[in-house]
Amino acid sequence: MTQHYDLIIIGTGAGGGTLAYALAATGKRILILERGGYLPREKDNWNPEAIFQDHKYQTQEQWLDRDNQVFSPEAFYNVGGNTKVYGAALQRMREEDFGELQHYDGVSPAWEISYSEFEPYYLRAESLYKIHGIRGEDPTEPPASAEYPFKPLHHEPRIQQITDGLENLGLHPFHLTLALNRDEDYPAQRPCIRCDTCDPYPCLVNAKCDAQVTCVDPALQHRNVELLINTRVTKLITDASGTRVTAVEAEKEGEIIKFTADTFVVSCGAINSAVLLLKSKSDRHPNGLANSSGMVGRNLMLHNHSALIAVADQPNDTIFQKTLGVNDFYFQGPNQNYPLGQIQLTGKAKWNRLKAFMPDSVPQSSLEYIAKHSVDWWLTTEDLPRWENCVTVNSEGKIKVDYQANNLKPHQDLIDIWTNYLRKLDFFLFFAKKMPIEVGWHQAGTCRFGSDPTKNVLDLNCRTHDVENLYVVDGSFFPAMGAVNPTLTIIANALRVADHFKNQ
Ligand SMILES: Cc1cc2nc3c(=O)[nH]c(=O)nc-3n(C[C@H](O)[C@H](O)[C@H](O)COP(=O)(O)OP(=O)(O)OC[C@H]3O[C@@H](n4cnc5c(N)ncnc54)[C@H](O)[C@@H]3O)c2cc1C
Repeated sequence: MTQHYDLIIIGTGAGGGTLAYALAATGKRILILERGGYLPREKDNWNPEAIFQDHKYQTQEQWLDRDNQVFSPEAFYNVGGNTKVYGAALQRMREEDFGELQHYDGVSPAWEISYSEFEPYYLRAESLYKIHGIRGEDPTEPPASAEYPFKPLHHEPRIQQITDGLENLGLHPFHLTLALNRDEDYPAQRPCIRCDTCDPYPCLVNAKCDAQVTCVDPALQHRNVELLINTRVTKLITDASGTRVTAVEAEKEGEIIKFTADTFVVSCGAINSAVLLLKSKSDRHPNGLANSSGMVGRNLMLHNHSALIAVADQPNDTIFQKTLGVNDFYFQGPNQNYPLGQIQLTGKAKWNRLKAFMPDSVPQSSLEYIAKHSVDWWLTTEDLPRWENCVTVNSEGKIKVDYQANNLKPHQDLIDIWTNYLRKLDFFLFFAKKMPIEVGWHQAGTCRFGSDPTKNVLDLNCRTHDVENLYVVDGSFFPAMGAVNPTLTIIANALRVADHFKNQ
């Protein structure tokens, strides 16, 4: 069976979902193919055991690490992609992140597009995903042409107390910019109830502005847009010259289906987009489709992340904890003249989540005590794009993530500095855990964009240099990703590429 479309988009996450939304009103006949289904709305969405012990919603796939050891990636294949479980803290990259930045471990390369070219798309992305925040509160924030669309989510008393303490110590804590369907002035009219099961849970009341709720569902209101779920694209097929994709092959419930289109967009997330291109190799593209540069799958970035559980005598009764960020050490530390990264609060850790941090011998009662008294932080440092860090597919078709973290010294500096600040606020016990390869939540860089076809997979419109009707629109395009959360940039870029399609 073959059906023809103007455009086929593969994947419904931040990149693909936003692109579909932005093009829906053009009248183009668009088919969206998504390997997963709709994430079920059920009580387990908010059940910590289902999330942290059973890993109920993550893929059952197993990938290989650089030593060929099997691991279970925390990847989510469903309509909306990983945004169904994301923390919804969406931030612009800093203006300096678009330029070359000297880091401890080397240079973070410049983008060929400036911050000012991205700014209007950031603005649209913030409006679409209903960002809450206060412009200018964060001293590292880049210039913006308008306020955030919504007031920030207020700090609960314990977090306000910590904010005041940090300000007294000379820091500049700010309200985290969050993508939630809530209006602090009229909370009853918006679904978000400020619960304690936001990050990293799916939202049972659909109040998180994820790609499904915000983009895919509204796009499907247009009769020219179709979505096929549980449909995994296995291969892109080109014409004999290898310069145009003519069809995709997909597997749905054991059947192989083919779809043809004028234009194809791969939006499978940075790891799976590279995998699909590599698996689509042919005589004309022996190293993988659109891979004459050899860069497909290379330069993988994952960020250096650590969770820091800080315990004080004072109980922490906060319900919605993820309201505070600190960027005072984004570009340098007190004694470090290199960038360190970002500090933000994460969802309130319950004892079930803390189990992953502690030896099995720690009894539940101790975990409960810690959970009652802890404030839970998430620290992120930029990792630098390295050719050696790559995604490949082995002879059995298994995904291999050959990744070694770099720029670790500034990450440890950040943890040490933050621990010392928290000591001054009477925290006395700390559990820091560097996130392992399973937590590839912030994946980027595997099909980077740039004007030189010998060094980049994509041109500046995210079209592949080698194949004239093939685009990649997701986290793959980043040449470097700063230390802020990447998704607002993925969304803004999808809106930018949509404008390119409209202007063609
Ligand atoms: C727990 C968690 C918390 C996070 N918190 C934040 C946060 O607070 N802020 C932030 O900025 N980012 C956060 N992130 C990261 C954010 O979710 C990602 O940056 C973002 O979703 C990436 O968008 P994408 O379009 O590149 O890929 P994805 O969102 O992963 O979308 C890819 C889509 O493609 C589909 N797909 C893959 N392969 C195929 C195929 N072969 N055929 C068909 N479909 C396919 C997948 O099922 C998926 O729907 C978080 C992620 C996780 C997991």
